[in-house]
Parts: sequence; structure tokens; C-alpha cells
Amino acid sequence: MSTPAPTFPAPGTVRPDDGRPLPAVPYATREEVRAAIERARAAQPAWAATPLAQRQAAMLALGRIILERRAEILEILNAETGRSPLECLVSEVIGTLDFARSANKVAAAALATEKVPLSMLDHPGKRAYIEALPHGVVGIIAPWNYPLINFYKHLFPALLAGNGVVLKPSESCPRTGAWLAARCADVLPKDLVQVVQGAGDVGAALLTEGIDSITFTGSVATGRKVSALAGERLVPCTAELGGKDAAIVLADCDLGRTVAGIVYWSIHNAGQNCASVERVYVEAAIADAFVQRCVAAVGKLRVAPQEGIADIGPLHTAPQLWLVEQHVADAVQRGATVLVGGTRTGSGWGYAPTVLDGCTHDMRVIREETFGPVLAIVRVKDAEEAVRLTNDSGYGLNGSVWTKDVARGEALARRLHVGVSLVNNHAIPAIMPEMPWTGVRGTGPGVANSRHAYPAYVRRRGVLVDSNRQPDPWWFPADANLAAFADAVVQRSIGSMVGALLKLLPLLGKRQKAIREFGGG
Ligand code: NDP
Repeated sequence: MSTPAPTFPAPGTVRPDDGRPLPAVPYATREEVRAAIERARAAQPAWAATPLAQRQAAMLALGRIILERRAEILEILNAETGRSPLECLVSEVIGTLDFARSANKVAAAALATEKVPLSMLDHPGKRAYIEALPHGVVGIIAPWNYPLINFYKHLFPALLAGNGVVLKPSESCPRTGAWLAARCADVLPKDLVQVVQGAGDVGAALLTEGIDSITFTGSVATGRKVSALAGERLVPCTAELGGKDAAIVLADCDLGRTVAGIVYWSIHNAGQNCASVERVYVEAAIADAFVQRCVAAVGKLRVAPQEGIADIGPLHTAPQLWLVEQHVADAVQRGATVLVGGTRTGSGWGYAPTVLDGCTHDMRVIREETFGPVLAIVRVKDAEEAVRLTNDSGYGLNGSVWTKDVARGEALARRLHVGVSLVNNHAIPAIMPEMPWTGVRGTGPGVANSRHAYPAYVRRRGVLVDSNRQPDPWWFPADANLAAFADAVVQRSIGSMVGALLKLLPLLGKRQKAIREFGGG
């Protein structure tokens, strides 16, 4: 069920928690985007020439200054997202310096020059290695759901690799991106990190105006456009897109811990997390008890703004609130039951944390990304049905299995067609620079975090140095000895090594002599 979208306020112009206006932030023109790229490009070579240890120290300084000036960013995040400062601290700020430390370690391994082991027999006198070289200027396009940490996963490694960076925040969270760029300016060389503000056309302008590599985090629809534009320009692009994560709850789970974990990963950040638990498949044997406990737990959650401590904030935008309402209405119309929540809070874009029981595979809330504080429960016969339904999805980011039988859980989790499989937890690798964060199907194959993300930040250059005084036996001229030599090489590959070598060595001498004569002696 879908109704036409109403008219919404312009993005980033009002606070999501109480609707108060926010001051406008000017948008960059195409020329300004080009100028920002050029400034970063001018600053980049000196940065790339700085020893890695110095770049790592700068990352620690960046992490430290963000923590030291946290009061400023918490105020901005509170205004732009409506989440309480405590929630912003815990979900976006607290781990900054630790993230930098771990990113430094990953970089040391990812950027190390790699020796290529060459066979002395096949390639005598030659040595080779692979270097990691920065692309130049990396563009980072980020969404609004975690407007600060969505930049970290690419900002730290891109800088560690020796790149300049241009940040493109979502137009609904421009001030967070601007503050981050200002902190970069405090501790990094002048102009190395730039920020360009504006809507989607400004993100696209990064590509048309000459960025050297692009990292995109956002929706599937935009990810396709950005990837296509990058493809046309042969610019490296990594895209991490939406999710519809499932959690499978087995009958033997630790019920209290499982309910707490799943409610957290479903409702955290009002469900506006690419790796939210958006579908729960619970085995029939414990379904009643599980649902009952979820309802009790979700019923205790408090939405900001309110007196005292809030657990979650409102939805970030009016269109997001409208979408969540559409999904819940569709589920109810198709037979699901709202056991708690299911209404607006009445303040800003607030939506009450919601539990839907009796969900089925045909509902939008099970098939499309909801991105809201909605715990949608599907009762299944057994684990096999849960695995089958989990894998029947247009997305594939995280998938988790909750059980006391860890070995069985691991075996089941590894059957999930997702980028990150978990047992008894969910989504936590997003803040681990050591773990690849990746997906399948609509989520996209892009990789963030870990050394596997480095193609977005570096190109590899192979270097081969030949100290062999003799020419290679394949060079001109082609003669009868070349045919005999080639035959002996084939025999060496498929037959007896010793016998072939005895034939090869005299032929090799003849070939080298002929080649030298061909070259003029
Ligand atoms: P969007 O795709 O709408 O926007 C993402 C970013 O792209 C924003 O900065 C946006 O700018 C910009 N943009 C929009 N159009 C273009 C364009 N044509 N060219 C270049 N850039 C463009 O996503 P949302 O902001 O709505 O974010 C929510 C989505 O992000 C969800 O699907 C969520 O699952 C996903 N996500 C995925 C993560 C992952 O790691 N897999 C992590 C976090 C979120 P503007 O906002 O100004 O329009």
C-alpha cells in the first residue's frame, strides 16, 4: 500500500525533534566544487611525501581534537539529528580516537610495499615489488544517518594513504561535515581536506569536476547513479548501500540477552542504520515468549526530546517518517499486529518504537528498507525456514543467528548470503577498522574498513628491476633453437624437470648468443 508523498520542508532547514528552524547553509556551485578539488590536489603531494608515521600521528591528533571539542559537535549533532547529546556521544563520538588508532594499524599493513616472490628459474636476475600509491583526491559522499562517523571509515584511511579529501555531507546534515572539515584544518596541512555543501548535484559534481576516487555511502538508487557516473569516467568507486538485515532467533537462545541485543540493533538511532535488524525470524517454539519480552522492552524506550535521558531520537526527516508510516500501514493491512508503538510521538519527526507481530514475506516492512524504529517479527517453523527467508531478499549487509549453541549458530550464520555474518550480535563490525564492511545484492559489493577497502584509496604499482646480464630467451630472432627451447620448456612444465633442464641449458646458451648478435653484440 502506498499513498502519494505530501510536501516536506527543505532538507536541513528544521530540527527533527521540535521543528525549530535551522540557519541556512549555502550550497557550492560547480565552479566551487572544482576549486575545492584543486585546493586539495595542490596540498596532496607534500602530504603523500610525509612519512607514514607522521600521517599516523596526525590521525591521532585528529581523533584527539574531536574528543576534546566534543561539546561543540554534540550540540551540532543534537540540532541536526534531534538525538540527545548522550546518544550522539555514545553512537558517533566516543570511539573516535580508538578508531584512529586501529585505522593506523590497518594502514601500516595495507600500505606496506609487497615483495613479489619470483622463480629464479623462470625469471633469473629479476626482482619485483608492489607499491601502494595514493589516488590523489578522494571524494567521500556520506548520508545523514550517522553524519559524523559515516565519514570516518573513509576519511582516516584515505588520509593515511596520502590522499587529499573532499567531503560531501548530506544536505540535511551540512553543519556536522563542516565542523569535521574545520577540525581537519586544525591538525592537518592547509587545504588537504575540503568540504562542499549541497544536494545530490553537488555530489555528482565531484565526479564531473575531476575527483580521482569516490567512496559513496547511501541508498541503492543513488549508489547506482554514482557508480555509473564513476564507471563512465573510469574513476575508482566504492558504494555501500542500503540493507534489510535479518536476525534469526533459535529456540535455545539466551532469551534475555537476545531480546536486549535485538531490540538495541533494531531500534538504535530510531532504526536509521543500514545494518539495523529490520526482520526477525523467530522459531515457533519460543515465539510467544520472545514477542512478549520484546514488547515489554520496546515499551520502555523513550524518544527525545523529553525530560531526563532519552534512548533514541526522532526520525531524521519528514520523508523518512512518512515512509515508516507507509510500511507499518501496509503491514497492518496485510495482517500484522501492532503490539506497541505504531504512532507518531507528536514532537517533530518522532515515531514511537514499534513491535509488529505476525509479519509475512509479502509485506513492505519485510522486503523494503524501512529505516525506522520498527521491530518486525516473522514466526517460522525452524532454522531452515529462517535461513531460506533471510536469503530471499534484495539486500545483503549483516545477518545474525542468536543461540546458545555457538557452533550451530556459526554454521547457520555462514549460510547467510550477506557481507557480514554474526552469531549473538549484530552490526558491531561497522566500528571496527579491522573488519571488512561489505555486502551482496542491492547492498552493493563496496568494502569499507580493513585492508580490503584500500583499492578506494590507493592504486597499486608493480615495479620490476632486471639485473640479469643475459637477454631473455624469448626475444628476437625466432630460430630453430627457439622452437627446441620452447619444446623443452613445455616438457619441463609437464614432464621431468631434470631431463628438461639438461636439454634447456645448452639451448639457452645458444639462444642468448643469437639474441646478442641480433642486438649488435
Ligand atoms: P542518499 O542516497 O539519498 O544520499 C546519500 C548521499 O548521496 C547524500 O550526501 C546525498 O546528498 C548524496 N547524493 C544524492 N544524489 C546524488 C547524486 N546523484 N550523486 C552524488 N551524490 C548524491 O541516501 P540517504 O542520505 O537517504 O541515506 C540513507 C541510505 O544510506 C540508506 O539506504 C542506508 O541503508 C544507506 N547507508 C548505508 C550504509 C552502509 O554502510 N552500507 C551506511 C549508512 C547508510 P543529499 O543528502 O544532499 O541529497
